[in-house]
Amino acid sequence: MTFPSSVAVFCGSKFGDDPKHEASARALGEGLAERDTRLVYGGGGIGLMGAVATAALDKGGEVKGVIPEFLLKFEVGDLPGVDQEITDSMHSRKKRMFELSDAFVAISGGLGTMDELIEITTWKQLRLHDKPIILLNEDGYWDDFVQLFDSVIAGGFASPESAELITIVDSVEKVFDVLSDVSVSKTETASERL
Ligand code: AMP
Repeated sequence: MTFPSSVAVFCGSKFGDDPKHEASARALGEGLAERDTRLVYGGGGIGLMGAVATAALDKGGEVKGVIPEFLLKFEVGDLPGVDQEITDSMHSRKKRMFELSDAFVAISGGLGTMDELIEITTWKQLRLHDKPIILLNEDGYWDDFVQLFDSVIAGGFASPESAELITIVDSVEKVFDVLSDVSVSKTETASERL
């Protein structure tokens, strides 16, 4: 078992109403830096995106941002210390984040976070990759999403095995437990098919 050397975090460009979301984003960023794991994220300086990146940088961690040119201004993609890669579209952003990462962690966020989580999960369902996907369900924030996922399976539109595509946990500590316990494939060819 190898702890992933590069982990993508999908999270909100806002803070949300509960300060716990920011605290968890910071704990995640710090924990990745402490494990010498590179943080790959959407490159913004606002909301939980800014929080996770700043926390990792504060601990001396490596942070890779991937941001489309048109969002540089909106998402304030100018955090000092971030190794920023500019893409030409949202699609190429997601593809680059996929290529650069050994595992994916989604924490609290909005529609963009959901989009990123769903897309990386559907790529896994299509066997385009087999990288770990972890959802941090902070204080039940994602309960409705989890229920919808279960309904899709119960309704016969996804196989029961689909439930295993995402590992759902309720604390940052457990995110690290899961990441510590996954074997990371070093041979990844699927990205060429995306
Ligand atoms: P949100 O969770 O809505 O605050 O968005 C979180 C991040 O997801 C932001 O950096 C958004 O720019 C990004 N995002 C939103 N929609 C998409 C999309 N379709 N593809 C890739 N990233 C997206």
